[in-house]
Amino acid sequence: MNRDNRNKTVFLITIDALRPDHLKSYGYHRNTAPNLEKFAEKGTTFLNAITNGPETPSAFSSLFTSILPFLSGGFSPLPIQKLILPQILKENDVYTYGIHSNPNLGEFFNYHRGFDVFLDGERYKEKQDMPKNQETKKNPLFLLKKILNYKNLFDKLMYGLKGFNKIKSLLRNRFPFLTDIFLPFTPIAYNAPYVVNKVVSFLRKIDKPLFLWAHLMDVHSPFNPPSKNVLNINSSDINLRDRNFLTSEVYQNPEKYRISTDILDKLKILYDAEINYVDSYLKDLFELIPLKFPKDCLVIITADHGESFFEHGFFFHQGNIYDELLKIPFFIIEIGNENAIKTVNNTVQIIDIAPTIIDYFGFPIPDSFQGISLIPLIRGESVERGKYVISETYQKNGIMKRNNKDGYKLISIRSDQWKYIYNEQSKEELLFHLKSDPEEKVNLVIKEEEKLTQFRRIRDSHFEEITTVDELSKISKVISQIDFKKINL
Ligand SMILES: [Zn+2]
Repeated sequence: MNRDNRNKTVFLITIDALRPDHLKSYGYHRNTAPNLEKFAEKGTTFLNAITNGPETPSAFSSLFTSILPFLSGGFSPLPIQKLILPQILKENDVYTYGIHSNPNLGEFFNYHRGFDVFLDGERYKEKQDMPKNQETKKNPLFLLKKILNYKNLFDKLMYGLKGFNKIKSLLRNRFPFLTDIFLPFTPIAYNAPYVVNKVVSFLRKIDKPLFLWAHLMDVHSPFNPPSKNVLNINSSDINLRDRNFLTSEVYQNPEKYRISTDILDKLKILYDAEINYVDSYLKDLFELIPLKFPKDCLVIITADHGESFFEHGFFFHQGNIYDELLKIPFFIIEIGNENAIKTVNNTVQIIDIAPTIIDYFGFPIPDSFQGISLIPLIRGESVERGKYVISETYQKNGIMKRNNKDGYKLISIRSDQWKYIYNEQSKEELLFHLKSDPEEKVNLVIKEEEKLTQFRRIRDSHFEEITTVDELSKISKVISQIDFKKINL
């Protein structure tokens, strides 16, 4: 390894469920994230970034492995034969640090691999929360422990308490340090102040170059931002009764209500205020990074997926694959580079992040990677790539599933102008002309037979690539015997 590589640092900041069209740089009418906008101005904004999975497990599998979710054994838990980015970096002597509190991305799902420091919000949880097999479940000691698990009980009590939202808002807003002390007792685990304070204090102590991933959960529903952040973006606050009704009732059971513009506006105010809340804490990090790493430093800011606000009759991010879930914000800032390209229109994908980071460090990109490095694009060079973008997950009756045993395939295949959706459970096919119908309202399946045939062909050949479970267990047995430390990746 040459000296240049050793001196590089990469930050990957991911914000769960952040829609690009709720940021000013993507044309939103509110400036929800002024600190992010100011920081991102120095770098490149990718105006057409697509996630390869519409919810956390499929999206992060794509991000960290640069392989589409259905391929090489699926995505949740990550199969051990699917190498993840930090493993490759660590093999090349890069120090790796990860902090997040999304239960889908914990050690149980194999996301800890390759991290020197991995804070996954599970550290206070008892092992019995996640029994590895039925035998453990049957053990009387396990049951006893479960009954006596006062932390879970406390969680439930806290959720049930009237006024909990008030306490939570107060803690979130005024006493971020308390979240560390209260972590075992509250569901506040790893909120923005905790994550950013932890990262900032870590950076103040460290001198070596590194890869650092910080994931922020606050924008994810339920939306309960501090009043201060609501007032930053709206002239009046939304009271706790309304918040509770909107996020616990309407959001969970939309079929019971008439979803009016007033309801949607209020939900979006709360969502936007959560963005503003995260942004207010990221400020410290955005100030420290250029001071600490004035050159040889790359910062990538993105989201795993978007969020539905009833555009197609859904809230949240499950069971559908429309663009309100697939479009993600995407910024790359190369600290010290004054000549970065300001905006890129090319379609880029979340599978491009891992090759971009490996390329920036100067290591060879593994053959298994399906994405491409975006470094040439931020330097104004052109890149060659395939014509189609695939996004996919498993679902059953509109609920996210982790594998093909429990769920059915849900896939989107897009070109620059067209988008095809296939739902294996309902056999429904949708075809949209994105250029004239970006909101995906007019299904052209009957009118555009030739286009439909083309997309079906791509779909079928992609499905043929999915390895069966039997074949995989053979592969994983072989792979588990390989010592990756001895392989120069
Ligand atoms: Zn997510």
